[in-house]
Amino acid sequence: MLIKSAEFVMSNSDVAKCPKDRLPEYAFIGRSNVGKSSLINMLMQRKSLAKTSGRPGKTQLINHFLINKNWYLVDLPGYGYARVSKSAKKVFQKFITKYFEKREQMVLAFVLIDCRLEPQPIDLEFMEWMGEHEVPFCMVFTKADKLKPNALQKNVDAYLQKMLETWVETPQYFITSSSSSVGRDELLGYIGSINEQ
Ligand code: GDP
Repeated sequence: MLIKSAEFVMSNSDVAKCPKDRLPEYAFIGRSNVGKSSLINMLMQRKSLAKTSGRPGKTQLINHFLINKNWYLVDLPGYGYARVSKSAKKVFQKFITKYFEKREQMVLAFVLIDCRLEPQPIDLEFMEWMGEHEVPFCMVFTKADKLKPNALQKNVDAYLQKMLETWVETPQYFITSSSSSVGRDELLGYIGSINEQ
């Protein structure tokens, strides 16, 4: 897919205030620091369409970007752990779950996973939640350039194996690197093929 235009449209925390038109949308989500902003910028070939630190506060909101005037890329807040007293409390902001429950035009979510890490409980639980709520999603392994090809494949295989402990089959997945643009054509091609259906 050729990216002809990519425009920031709005940020908010209220699903009811998201764009009213019925264009298909694709959500990007993952733990903080997984490489989400870098991936979005790589896909859109923009230096700073999505920003982590540059646009303070906006990383905690639902951010809509209109792509090629016919679909939305939705940058969702990173989930993670909040330090609450001594215990680490898992946090999926309420409006994230609300977004997935209510947003009918959400076609597919891309759940980002750092390819270097062992399967993290919070990611597994998040995907579990998505499965239980019948939210369609793909996995995106990020930062592929940080591993040698063998180690990368080994990690991906181990991850999928781990998922098969609870899933009947594993979701479609992509391997990406924001520094080398690996996976760009595959991921955008996938979105394009769904949009054409
Ligand atoms: P976010 O919090 O998920 O939006 O993560 P960022 O996109 O801000 O990335 C977090 C850190 O990982 C930054 O220091 C990025 O430069 C780095 N990073 C992100 N993607 C890649 C990648 O594909 N390759 C490499 N080598 N570093 C990456």
